[in-house]
Amino acid sequence: MRAGVAPDHQHTKAITDLFARIEAQPGFSYALGLEVGVDVTHEQLLQRHDAVVYATGASADRRLGVPGEDLPGNTTATAVVAWYNGHPDHVATPIDLDAERTVVVGNGNVALDVARVLLSDPAQLARTDIADHALEALRTSRLRCVELVARRGPAQAAFTVPELVGLLHHPDVDVVVPQRDLLDGDDVKSRLLREGTTAEPVEGRRHVLLRFLAAPVEVLGERAVTGVRLARTRLETDVDGTVRAMPTGELDDVATTSVLRSVGYRSTPVPGVPFDPVAHRIPNVGGRVLDAAGGALLPRTYVVGWAKRGPTGFIGTNKSCSLETVNHLLADVALGRLDHESVLGAPGRSVRGQDLVGLDLDAWRRLDAHERVAGREQGRPRRKVVERARMLDVVNGVASAR
Ligand code: NAP
Repeated sequence: MRAGVAPDHQHTKAITDLFARIEAQPGFSYALGLEVGVDVTHEQLLQRHDAVVYATGASADRRLGVPGEDLPGNTTATAVVAWYNGHPDHVATPIDLDAERTVVVGNGNVALDVARVLLSDPAQLARTDIADHALEALRTSRLRCVELVARRGPAQAAFTVPELVGLLHHPDVDVVVPQRDLLDGDDVKSRLLREGTTAEPVEGRRHVLLRFLAAPVEVLGERAVTGVRLARTRLETDVDGTVRAMPTGELDDVATTSVLRSVGYRSTPVPGVPFDPVAHRIPNVGGRVLDAAGGALLPRTYVVGWAKRGPTGFIGTNKSCSLETVNHLLADVALGRLDHESVLGAPGRSVRGQDLVGLDLDAWRRLDAHERVAGREQGRPRRKVVERARMLDVVNGVASAR
């Protein structure tokens, strides 16, 4: 919720009320600020608990695999989202807001989130819990156009209808589709785009430009990005109904100093936990972790969310996904599969040799209350503390609300 959901989607964050109810239940505890493989091992977790459920998500970005993708001027949606949401690892991530045009590869909901937040009026964002450093940077941004490049057509666009409708009604951001001939389809997305967009931007207005049937083949530049080369595509439908983008052989170069790829996320391995390097997931059957893809069940180990099934779906999808895992866990309790010699008592030592004690629920509540108080003074839901050291100061009562 904190690092992933866009700051202008506060209603989505209402799910944290449910988290607060769960936190308050007897028997619930947190050990926060511990990293598996760094502070604690999978084996240590298993020794101390009847079961371990991994909910580690997909924190890395997918790559395009085209030349020039690592030139300065390339950024990823993962980095931009983490930057504006105040993830401690991305406070200092350089985000180019000097360019008037940024090209975003991909047109999923994340691409829409990034385009909308980067183009929104900072005065409106100042009412959200966007990180302070991002708000400051956006106040002096020169960005006017975010061009979303998609290899397929409007009907196949990866963004969802509610997110498109939200963008079409945005007060500060226009949506422009120059390829009007592609908008004559009967599907909902084509119709909404036909009726809710213009062929050209209005002078001076910030806008999202949607380009279809174009796949990047190279990011241009020698020392830094100067543009992106796009291969035009046409659509082919397989026997199973899958619509594919096939290159026509025609190329277009778009000049820009800023390219942002938003082509999906990727899970990364958790040390000591099996990982399928092809599917980029923790191998599992219905949330029960396997020792390898297609292998044997790993005792008392489970997985939920994007680490379980890949980076697709909404919060609701994750709810039903979790339910499946928890039902299997409960079935295993009934089958006696969780029986083991438990090692309780002293917390023990971490991998780094420190006491194995994470931050608890009280620590989180102190940070949460501090941020809410600091936010209230500015009419915001919260003002995030983004540096780890300052978070610890707040938790330990050293820092006052500023
Ligand atoms: P996504 O929906 O999978 O979209 C990925 C985009 O990248 C698609 O446009 C895809 O095109 C394109 N792409 C992938 N590989 C490419 C390549 N090699 N060259 C060119 N284009 C390529 O991923 P996402 O936007 O990261 O979202 C992840 C999940 O989170 C989705 O299920 C999304 O709905 C969800 N989400 C929801 C919300 C919300 O509800 N508000 C907000 C954020 C995220 P093709 O379609 O042609 O493959």
